[in-house]
Amino acid sequence: MYDLYRAMIVEYGLKMLKSNQVSGSSGNLSVKISENLIAISPSGIPYDELLPEQVPVIDLNGKIVDGSYKPSIEHKLHTEIYKSFPEVDAVIHTHSIYASVLSTLRISLPAITETVLMISEEIPIASYANAGTFELARNVVEAMKKSRAVLMANHGLVCAAKTMKEAFSMCENVERNAQVYVLALSTGKMVHTIDEAHAKEAMEFLRKNYGQTT
Ligand SMILES: [Zn+2]
Repeated sequence: MYDLYRAMIVEYGLKMLKSNQVSGSSGNLSVKISENLIAISPSGIPYDELLPEQVPVIDLNGKIVDGSYKPSIEHKLHTEIYKSFPEVDAVIHTHSIYASVLSTLRISLPAITETVLMISEEIPIASYANAGTFELARNVVEAMKKSRAVLMANHGLVCAAKTMKEAFSMCENVERNAQVYVLALSTGKMVHTIDEAHAKEAMEFLRKNYGQTT
C-alpha cells in the first residue's frame, strides 16, 4: 500500500542528496496521498540508504498510520503547510548552501532574474524558530502566504507545490538565484533588481505563456 508515494520520497530524497541540496539525512520531504494523509521521509535515515518500506505514512495530526519508522522531526512543518494550503501536494525542505547563506544574513531573495519571478516577486524569510516546533511551522506558513518558496532564518529553504517535480525544481531555482545574489553582493558593487513595473509585467507574461500548457 502507498508504494507509489513511498517510492517518490526515495527518488526525490536521492535527487536532493545528489544535487547537493542536503547532506546525509538532513532536510526532509513529503507528498500528499489524500486529504488527511501524507508520506514523509523518516527521521535520521540517510537518503542513499532509504528503502521505500521505511517511509512512514502519517495523518495531518502527525499520527503514524502505516509504517514502523518515526517521521521526520520536521513533520509539523509539513502538516501545517498542507492544512493551510489545500492546493499543495508536495513539500521539500533543504539546507542548500546559498539559500542558507541568505537565511543566515536574514535577507530575502529579491527579483534579480525572471526565474525568481516564476515563483514570486521575492522569496521571503520566515522568522527564526527551533527545528521541529509548531512555532517554526507557523512562521513558515505565514511567509508562505506571499510565496510558495520560503527561506527559513538561520536554517534553509522550503518549497511547496502541486507536484514533487515542481517543488524540486523550485528548490533548485531558488538555490541557483541565491548563489547569483550572494556572489553579486560579495563584489561590493551595487546589486540591481528588476524594477516593480517590469516584474509585474514579466510575472503576468510568464503566467500566461511559460511551459507547454495551453
Ligand atoms: Zn532543516
